[in-house]
Amino acid sequence: MWSFLYATVIVGLVASIAAQNIKPVVELFQVDFTTNNQGGCNYVAQANMQQILQDAYDLGTIGSQLVSDYKNNVVEARRLLDSFFQVQNPPMNENELEDISGAYKQVSDWILNGGPYDNESRDNTPFLFCFHNWLQKKTMNDPAQDENGETYPNVESGGAPFLIRDSEVYRNMQQKETEEAELDTPAPPYWSYKHHAYIFDRSYGGPNTGMCSRRKYAGGTQHVLNPSSITLCPFFFGTTNARSGGIKYVARRSVAPNPIPRASVKTGLKNAQTLSDVTPTATTLLHELFHLVSGNELTTPPPPGEVYGLLKGEGGNPNKIVGLDFDNASENPESFALAAVAYDYTLNWPPDNAGNRIEFEAGYTTQG
Ligand SMILES: [Zn+2]
Repeated sequence: MWSFLYATVIVGLVASIAAQNIKPVVELFQVDFTTNNQGGCNYVAQANMQQILQDAYDLGTIGSQLVSDYKNNVVEARRLLDSFFQVQNPPMNENELEDISGAYKQVSDWILNGGPYDNESRDNTPFLFCFHNWLQKKTMNDPAQDENGETYPNVESGGAPFLIRDSEVYRNMQQKETEEAELDTPAPPYWSYKHHAYIFDRSYGGPNTGMCSRRKYAGGTQHVLNPSSITLCPFFFGTTNARSGGIKYVARRSVAPNPIPRASVKTGLKNAQTLSDVTPTATTLLHELFHLVSGNELTTPPPPGEVYGLLKGEGGNPNKIVGLDFDNASENPESFALAAVAYDYTLNWPPDNAGNRIEFEAGYTTQG
């Protein structure tokens, strides 16, 4: 009995040292759990969001562990990092390893403590939204609103409302976004209820549409308006744009690995499980936190830009995460997020009888 109690106390102590208390989501972000209007997160609920944030933090620390294990010649860490970050010229050198561990640490430190973000250029509190409806889609023919949200007369044309298109500043913002995003039609203005300012973005189809109207669009981060914001879409939470009913939260390692032997990666791969099949809900939040904390410059790879596809390239970008070179991978948030998810299984899933661990360096779930 005594020894049992003693053991319990010891285990409890170890667990409390390992589990860091991250900041409450309502302190890290301006986020509204009381409504689904104007980007509110009522359908997600605060406790769920706090858990997803905790998962993102834990994955960030696993990323740091991945780099230190690489330095200590842990073979699984070497295989994974070389495959995801330095396929052309392994092994990675000291500077490259510092870049990667520094990025993981910056993100997990921010979740733990808050503080400056956007590569330390901003120190206000960023927004966290759960739908794109913090923005209201407008046309250039709508009356312009000032910082109080009020319309105002155009003194040059007899007092009729001053329209968005009457402003040279807004016309220039529209032209810039249309050109930079290589859009076929001019980018419409969107009014932010939270910033009381306009942002220009692609159209996403009809009225009241926004970034979450895109199929399978999980989230985005913007630094154009200040404070910056992360928008997570209902797709990210495994639900629909109706934002009713429960979300489908996927915990870390809740999907059981179904490995094939490494030797068979080159042959019969039909229906083999991949890393994309086992990602937890927090993966996208971790991805967006890299954009938020490190800023756009350090999280946008050279053209053609961000890489999302694990094993094959996507429209407009033939690159894929497995086999990316260092210059691209070290600025690609999805590479960081997926490497951490992969190493979480390697570290924490029980090995087989021969001691082989679960690995994903080929993109597929392998063991032995
Ligand atoms: Zn991204």
